[in-house]
Amino acid sequence: MPLGLPLVGGSHTRTAGHGTAGLETTEAERSERLAAVREGRVGSVHSWELVTAVDGPGTRLTVFLSGCPLRCLYCHNPDTMQMRRGTDVTADEILARVARYRGVFTATGGGLTISGGEPLMQPAFVRRLVRGAAAMDVPVAIDTSGYLGAQIDDATLDDVSLVLLDVKSGDPETYRRVTGRELAPTLEFSRRLAARGTRLWIRFVLVPGLTDAPANVAAVADHVASLGPAVERVEVLPFHQMGRDKWAELGMRYELEDTEPPTAEATEAVRDVFRARGLLTH
Ligand code: SF4
Repeated sequence: MPLGLPLVGGSHTRTAGHGTAGLETTEAERSERLAAVREGRVGSVHSWELVTAVDGPGTRLTVFLSGCPLRCLYCHNPDTMQMRRGTDVTADEILARVARYRGVFTATGGGLTISGGEPLMQPAFVRRLVRGAAAMDVPVAIDTSGYLGAQIDDATLDDVSLVLLDVKSGDPETYRRVTGRELAPTLEFSRRLAARGTRLWIRFVLVPGLTDAPANVAAVADHVASLGPAVERVEVLPFHQMGRDKWAELGMRYELEDTEPPTAEATEAVRDVFRARGLLTH
Protein backbone atom coordinates (compact mmCIF):
# COMPACT_ATOMS: atom_id res chain seq x y z
CA MET A 1 0.00 0.00 0.00
CA PRO A 2 1.15 3.52 -0.55
CA LEU A 3 1.69 4.25 3.09
CA GLY A 4 4.49 6.29 4.51
CA LEU A 5 2.33 8.88 6.17
CA PRO A 6 2.57 9.34 9.91
CA LEU A 7 0.13 6.92 11.37
CA VAL A 8 -2.09 7.75 14.29
CA GLY A 9 -2.60 4.77 16.55
CA GLY A 10 -5.94 3.32 17.45
CA SER A 11 -7.50 3.93 20.81
CA HIS A 12 -6.94 0.40 22.04
CA THR A 13 -3.92 -0.79 23.92
CA ARG A 14 -2.74 -4.33 24.02
CA THR A 15 -3.03 -6.20 27.26
CA ALA A 16 -1.60 -9.53 26.18
CA GLY A 17 1.73 -10.20 27.75
CA HIS A 18 1.11 -8.10 30.86
CA GLY A 19 1.32 -10.21 33.99
CA THR A 20 -1.01 -13.18 33.86
CA ALA A 21 -3.81 -11.44 31.95
CA GLY A 22 -3.30 -13.66 28.92
CA LEU A 23 -3.66 -16.80 31.00
CA GLU A 24 -7.10 -15.80 32.18
CA THR A 25 -8.62 -16.04 28.71
CA THR A 26 -11.12 -18.83 28.90
CA GLU A 27 -11.96 -21.30 26.18
CA ALA A 28 -15.39 -19.65 25.86
CA GLU A 29 -13.80 -16.24 25.33
CA ARG A 30 -11.48 -17.67 22.71
CA SER A 31 -14.25 -19.28 20.73
CA GLU A 32 -16.41 -16.12 21.01
CA ARG A 33 -13.50 -14.11 19.57
CA LEU A 34 -13.05 -16.59 16.73
CA ALA A 35 -16.76 -16.40 15.90
CA ALA A 36 -16.62 -12.59 15.97
CA VAL A 37 -13.61 -12.57 13.61
CA ARG A 38 -15.26 -15.09 11.28
CA GLU A 39 -18.41 -13.00 11.10
CA GLY A 40 -16.45 -9.78 10.63
CA ARG A 41 -17.67 -8.19 13.88
CA VAL A 42 -14.05 -7.88 14.99
CA GLY A 43 -10.96 -7.21 12.89
CA SER A 44 -7.25 -6.81 13.41
CA VAL A 45 -6.49 -3.11 12.96
CA HIS A 46 -3.10 -1.40 12.77
CA SER A 47 -4.27 2.23 13.01
CA TRP A 48 -6.43 4.90 11.45
CA GLU A 49 -6.05 8.51 10.50
CA LEU A 50 -7.96 11.40 9.00
CA VAL A 51 -6.32 12.52 5.75
CA THR A 52 -7.03 14.93 2.94
CA ALA A 53 -5.95 14.62 -0.69
CA VAL A 54 -4.61 11.07 -0.33
CA ASP A 55 -6.27 7.64 -0.34
CA GLY A 56 -9.16 8.92 -2.46
CA PRO A 57 -11.06 12.18 -2.97
CA GLY A 58 -11.88 14.69 -0.22
CA THR A 59 -11.23 14.12 3.46
CA ARG A 60 -10.94 10.42 4.30
CA LEU A 61 -10.97 8.30 7.38
CA THR A 62 -8.34 5.74 6.40
CA VAL A 63 -8.34 2.54 8.42
CA PHE A 64 -5.23 0.38 8.12
CA LEU A 65 -5.97 -3.29 8.68
CA SER A 66 -3.23 -5.66 9.80
CA GLY A 67 -1.96 -8.58 7.78
CA CYS A 68 -0.63 -8.85 4.24
CA PRO A 69 0.29 -11.86 2.08
CA LEU A 70 2.83 -9.80 0.11
CA ARG A 71 6.35 -8.90 1.19
CA CYS A 72 7.10 -5.83 -0.90
CA LEU A 73 10.75 -4.88 -0.72
CA TYR A 74 9.76 -1.20 -0.53
CA CYS A 75 6.93 -1.57 2.02
CA HIS A 76 6.69 1.63 4.07
CA ASN A 77 4.85 -0.08 6.88
CA PRO A 78 6.28 -3.57 7.38
CA ASP A 79 4.62 -3.54 10.81
CA THR A 80 1.29 -4.05 9.02
CA MET A 81 2.44 -7.29 7.39
CA GLN A 82 1.54 -9.58 10.27
CA MET A 83 -2.01 -9.75 11.51
CA ARG A 84 -0.93 -10.61 15.03
CA ARG A 85 0.67 -7.18 15.41
CA GLY A 86 -2.73 -5.53 15.06
CA THR A 87 -5.29 -4.78 17.72
CA ASP A 88 -8.79 -6.24 17.89
CA VAL A 89 -11.31 -3.51 17.05
CA THR A 90 -15.01 -3.96 16.44
CA ALA A 91 -16.63 -2.95 13.15
CA ASP A 92 -19.18 -1.04 15.23
CA GLU A 93 -16.47 1.12 16.74
CA ILE A 94 -15.09 2.04 13.33
CA LEU A 95 -18.57 2.69 11.97
CA ALA A 96 -19.34 4.95 14.94
CA ARG A 97 -16.25 6.94 13.98
CA VAL A 98 -17.42 7.07 10.36
CA ALA A 99 -20.79 8.38 11.54
CA ARG A 100 -19.05 11.14 13.48
CA TYR A 101 -17.28 12.40 10.36
CA ARG A 102 -20.26 12.12 8.05
CA GLY A 103 -20.65 15.90 7.73
CA VAL A 104 -16.96 16.29 6.83
CA PHE A 105 -17.25 13.58 4.19
CA THR A 106 -20.32 15.20 2.64
CA ALA A 107 -18.73 18.66 2.63
CA THR A 108 -15.47 17.47 1.02
CA GLY A 109 -16.64 14.61 -1.19
CA GLY A 110 -14.63 12.24 1.01
CA GLY A 111 -15.41 9.00 2.78
CA LEU A 112 -13.97 5.87 4.33
CA THR A 113 -10.84 4.23 2.89
CA ILE A 114 -10.08 0.68 3.98
CA SER A 115 -6.36 0.09 3.59
CA GLY A 116 -3.65 -2.02 5.12
CA GLY A 117 -1.66 -4.19 5.14
CA GLU A 118 -3.98 -5.97 2.78
CA PRO A 119 -7.62 -5.36 3.73
CA LEU A 120 -8.87 -8.36 1.77
CA MET A 121 -7.12 -10.67 4.23
CA GLN A 122 -10.15 -9.91 6.42
CA PRO A 123 -13.01 -10.10 3.90
CA ALA A 124 -15.83 -10.53 6.42
CA PHE A 125 -14.67 -7.47 8.37
CA VAL A 126 -14.34 -5.46 5.16
CA ARG A 127 -17.82 -6.55 4.09
CA ARG A 128 -19.28 -5.33 7.37
CA LEU A 129 -17.47 -1.98 7.17
CA VAL A 130 -18.49 -1.46 3.54
CA ARG A 131 -22.13 -2.28 4.21
CA GLY A 132 -22.24 -0.16 7.35
CA ALA A 133 -20.72 2.88 5.63
CA ALA A 134 -22.90 2.45 2.55
CA ALA A 135 -25.97 2.34 4.79
CA MET A 136 -24.94 5.83 6.00
CA ASP A 137 -24.40 6.96 2.38
CA VAL A 138 -20.68 7.34 3.06
CA PRO A 139 -18.58 6.46 -0.01
CA VAL A 140 -16.06 3.68 0.56
CA ALA A 141 -12.71 3.15 -1.14
CA ILE A 142 -10.66 -0.02 -0.83
CA ASP A 143 -6.89 0.26 -1.10
CA THR A 144 -5.51 -3.11 -2.19
CA SER A 145 -2.79 -4.95 -4.09
CA GLY A 146 -5.54 -7.05 -5.67
CA TYR A 147 -3.70 -10.26 -4.81
CA LEU A 148 -6.72 -11.47 -2.80
CA GLY A 149 -9.32 -9.88 -5.07
CA ALA A 150 -11.17 -13.20 -5.35
CA GLN A 151 -12.04 -12.83 -1.64
CA ILE A 152 -14.42 -9.92 -2.17
CA ASP A 153 -17.88 -10.74 -3.50
CA ASP A 154 -19.84 -8.78 -6.09
CA ALA A 155 -22.50 -7.71 -3.60
CA THR A 156 -19.83 -5.98 -1.49
CA LEU A 157 -18.26 -4.42 -4.56
CA ASP A 158 -21.68 -2.95 -5.41
CA ASP A 159 -21.24 -0.77 -2.32
CA VAL A 160 -17.62 0.21 -3.03
CA SER A 161 -17.30 3.50 -4.86
CA LEU A 162 -13.58 3.36 -5.67
CA VAL A 163 -10.76 0.83 -5.68
CA LEU A 164 -7.20 2.07 -5.27
CA LEU A 165 -5.31 -0.73 -6.95
CA ASP A 166 -1.56 -1.18 -6.66
CA VAL A 167 -0.10 -2.70 -9.80
CA LYS A 168 3.38 -3.26 -8.51
CA SER A 169 4.84 -4.51 -11.80
CA GLY A 170 3.74 -5.59 -15.24
CA ASP A 171 6.27 -8.33 -15.73
CA PRO A 172 5.52 -11.49 -13.65
CA GLU A 173 9.16 -12.06 -12.74
CA THR A 174 9.62 -8.50 -11.53
CA TYR A 175 6.36 -8.74 -9.60
CA ARG A 176 7.65 -11.84 -7.85
CA ARG A 177 10.96 -10.15 -7.07
CA VAL A 178 9.14 -7.08 -5.65
CA THR A 179 6.40 -8.86 -3.68
CA GLY A 180 7.31 -12.53 -3.36
CA ARG A 181 3.99 -13.45 -5.02
CA GLU A 182 2.31 -13.90 -8.39
CA LEU A 183 1.10 -11.08 -10.62
CA ALA A 184 -1.83 -12.94 -12.21
CA PRO A 185 -4.44 -12.48 -9.40
CA THR A 186 -4.00 -8.69 -9.51
CA LEU A 187 -4.47 -8.59 -13.29
CA GLU A 188 -7.52 -10.83 -12.98
CA PHE A 189 -9.04 -8.64 -10.25
CA SER A 190 -8.42 -5.48 -12.27
CA ARG A 191 -10.23 -7.00 -15.28
CA ARG A 192 -13.14 -8.02 -13.08
CA LEU A 193 -13.43 -4.51 -11.65
CA ALA A 194 -13.16 -2.90 -15.06
CA ALA A 195 -15.83 -5.20 -16.47
CA ARG A 196 -18.20 -4.23 -13.62
CA GLY A 197 -17.40 -0.54 -14.15
CA THR A 198 -15.95 -0.06 -10.65
CA ARG A 199 -13.96 3.21 -10.56
CA LEU A 200 -10.24 2.55 -10.39
CA TRP A 201 -7.25 4.59 -9.36
CA ILE A 202 -4.12 2.67 -10.29
CA ARG A 203 -0.91 3.11 -8.35
CA PHE A 204 2.57 2.16 -9.43
CA VAL A 205 5.64 2.68 -7.25
CA LEU A 206 8.72 3.58 -9.24
CA VAL A 207 11.84 2.05 -7.72
CA PRO A 208 15.15 2.56 -9.51
CA GLY A 209 16.79 -0.75 -10.34
CA LEU A 210 13.68 -2.70 -9.35
CA THR A 211 10.51 -1.59 -11.18
CA ASP A 212 11.86 1.01 -13.60
CA ALA A 213 12.91 -1.21 -16.53
CA PRO A 214 11.22 0.26 -19.64
CA ALA A 215 9.67 -3.13 -20.54
CA ASN A 216 8.18 -3.43 -17.04
CA VAL A 217 6.76 0.10 -17.08
CA ALA A 218 5.34 -0.46 -20.59
CA ALA A 219 3.72 -3.71 -19.45
CA VAL A 220 1.98 -1.94 -16.54
CA ALA A 221 0.88 0.92 -18.80
CA ASP A 222 -0.39 -1.46 -21.52
CA HIS A 223 -2.41 -3.44 -19.01
CA VAL A 224 -3.89 -0.35 -17.38
CA ALA A 225 -4.80 1.12 -20.77
CA SER A 226 -6.52 -2.16 -21.69
CA LEU A 227 -8.88 -1.73 -18.72
CA GLY A 228 -10.72 1.09 -20.47
CA PRO A 229 -12.83 3.88 -18.97
CA ALA A 230 -13.09 2.39 -15.45
CA VAL A 231 -9.58 3.73 -14.85
CA GLU A 232 -10.05 7.28 -13.65
CA ARG A 233 -6.44 8.06 -12.92
CA VAL A 234 -2.96 6.65 -12.51
CA GLU A 235 -0.55 7.67 -9.78
CA VAL A 236 3.14 7.05 -10.32
CA LEU A 237 4.65 7.22 -6.86
CA PRO A 238 8.39 7.75 -6.54
CA PHE A 239 10.04 5.36 -4.09
CA HIS A 240 11.29 6.99 -0.89
CA GLN A 241 13.18 5.83 2.18
CA MET A 242 10.66 6.93 4.82
CA GLY A 243 9.95 3.34 5.91
CA ARG A 244 13.59 2.28 6.32
CA ASP A 245 13.80 2.58 10.11
CA LYS A 246 10.74 0.40 10.64
CA TRP A 247 12.44 -2.55 8.97
CA ALA A 248 15.36 -2.20 11.35
CA GLU A 249 13.07 -1.84 14.38
CA LEU A 250 11.33 -5.09 13.42
CA GLY A 251 14.66 -6.85 12.90
CA MET A 252 13.74 -7.48 9.25
CA ARG A 253 16.26 -7.40 6.42
CA TYR A 254 15.73 -4.35 4.24
CA GLU A 255 17.08 -4.91 0.74
CA LEU A 256 16.67 -1.36 -0.55
CA GLU A 257 19.09 0.25 1.90
CA ASP A 258 21.20 1.73 -0.90
CA THR A 259 18.41 2.52 -3.34
CA GLU A 260 17.98 6.21 -4.15
CA PRO A 261 14.59 7.74 -4.95
CA PRO A 262 14.07 8.30 -8.68
CA THR A 263 14.81 11.79 -9.99
CA ALA A 264 11.90 14.09 -10.77
CA GLU A 265 12.78 13.76 -14.47
CA ALA A 266 12.76 9.95 -14.37
CA THR A 267 9.39 9.97 -12.57
CA GLU A 268 7.92 12.38 -15.14
CA ALA A 269 9.27 10.23 -17.97
CA VAL A 270 7.44 7.21 -16.55
CA ARG A 271 4.26 9.28 -16.13
CA ASP A 272 4.59 10.17 -19.80
CA VAL A 273 4.57 6.47 -20.70
CA PHE A 274 1.10 6.24 -19.13
CA ARG A 275 -0.04 9.57 -20.59
CA ALA A 276 0.98 8.38 -24.07
CA ARG A 277 -1.73 5.73 -23.69
CA GLY A 278 -4.38 8.34 -22.94
CA LEU A 279 -4.35 7.81 -19.15
CA LEU A 280 -4.78 10.73 -16.76
CA THR A 281 -1.58 10.40 -14.74
CA HIS A 282 -0.22 12.17 -11.67
S1 SF4 B 1 1.07 -4.88 -0.27
FE1 SF4 B 1 1.67 -5.46 1.82
S2 SF4 B 1 3.88 -5.71 1.78
FE2 SF4 B 1 3.27 -4.59 -0.06
S3 SF4 B 1 3.49 -2.41 0.46
FE3 SF4 B 1 1.37 -2.98 0.90
S4 SF4 B 1 1.36 -3.60 3.06
FE4 SF4 B 1 3.49 -3.57 2.40
